[in-house]
Amino acid sequence: MNVRIGQGFDLHRLEPGDAIVLGGVSIPAQFQARAHSDGDVLLHALCDALLGAAGRGDIGDHFPDSDPRWRDADSRIFVRHCRALLEEDGWQPLNVDLTLLAETPRIGDHKEQMRRNLAVDLQLEASRINIKAGTMEGLGAIGRGEAVAALAAALIGKTP
Ligand code: MG
Repeated sequence: MNVRIGQGFDLHRLEPGDAIVLGGVSIPAQFQARAHSDGDVLLHALCDALLGAAGRGDIGDHFPDSDPRWRDADSRIFVRHCRALLEEDGWQPLNVDLTLLAETPRIGDHKEQMRRNLAVDLQLEASRINIKAGTMEGLGAIGRGEAVAALAAALIGKTP
């Protein structure tokens, strides 16, 4: 099997609001991500990891924030589109590993729902999807609660 790896990163500023969308789950909060789409950093980092692995550029190439179609878009649409792009070239995701960097919210109670969402969107067993989270120990913009960020790694494969 041919395999390739990709990595992704995303960051969004936070602004006053009532919920933040992470991993396709809307979590009640006193803030929201400032973004053209729903601002789901976890899914944006994942898209970049998948596109990177497949050599298909980045999320901005496929979903430019200047395009009104993507205003307030559900980022799960982006993930499904990236999955379809991989498939065009014969690739399938093998496993993905996501890390949220945020002071709040704590996502422990939501991780299973996020994995279920991604299992559907990636057509991948939930056991091949991992979601982690850490804080920045109060340091920097993320530590002050001014932003949230995410890292992602994706392994993809195809049988020649
Ligand atoms: Mg983003």
